Amino acid sequence: MTVLRRPRIEACLFDLDDCLYDNTAMQHQVAENIRHYMAERLGFPADEVQEKCADFYLNYGTTLAGLVAHGYQVDYDDWHAFVHGSLDYEKYLQPDPALRAMLDSLPLPKYVFTNADRAHAKRCLDLLGITECFIRVISFEEVMEAAAEAGLTHHGCPVVCKPNRQAFDIALQLAGSPTPGATLWADDSARNITTGHRMGLYSVLVGRTGVACPSDKQIRHIHELPAALPWLWEGQQPPVCAAPPLSHADGTGAADEGASGNGSAAVPAKTAGKAAAGGRSSENETMIEAVYTAA
Ligand SMILES: [Mg+2]
Repeated sequence: MTVLRRPRIEACLFDLDDCLYDNTAMQHQVAENIRHYMAERLGFPADEVQEKCADFYLNYGTTLAGLVAHGYQVDYDDWHAFVHGSLDYEKYLQPDPALRAMLDSLPLPKYVFTNADRAHAKRCLDLLGITECFIRVISFEEVMEAAAEAGLTHHGCPVVCKPNRQAFDIALQLAGSPTPGATLWADDSARNITTGHRMGLYSVLVGRTGVACPSDKQIRHIHELPAALPWLWEGQQPPVCAAPPLSHADGTGAADEGASGNGSAAVPAKTAGKAAAGGRSSENETMIEAVYTAA
């Protein structure tokens, strides 16, 4: 058995929603806003909206990406204002001093990497009291701007988002191009974790354990991170682990590579080369997410 000694972690990427906080009521409201937008602004029959939402989310990463991929003309700012802008944030989110202390005690560059829009991320981070903990928020707008600049699309769709590999390549680039293997990645989505893990990021699924998805660690709550990864706070390398099966690193990322308009050519060679070791977005990931969501 091949044994890998991973490098020390140099940077940390955190998802936002359902990862740095967990508020089911707010996410239900977001889902309801999405359904209302689709019915009211795009004319979807009321009895088809829920199924379409799930279909787009599972197959394209976000409902917005699915809508755009299917030719719907959606103004991104209008979408985000409708879906997030109307939320009563104060009702859902309060300062989390324990999380603040945990993040402050972690002596590494920290970034938020979210599919959500910039305004939503700022509102959430401000209310949680953790805005200053992060060097940068890599939001929908940042990824889209970088993708447009680089001529990247996903299966011809201009919306590039997690779990697409292109979004991870961009996030790493915007985070100063840390080595994927020396980057910690925390997210509540099994398929997002799957992509990160296959790209070589040290990947921590947050929110539940025992999930059948490729990951380095699974924790129930972000507050458990120091107990789960004490070596991270001590500046140590991650514990020795078995090498992933070859099927994870055999260059089968062709599906996602081919999905990009210009491939990864616009991504710095350093990042693209390392990421190409095993990144792939596949039907399996959709299956995993479906199971995860239903569990
Ligand atoms: Mg999330």
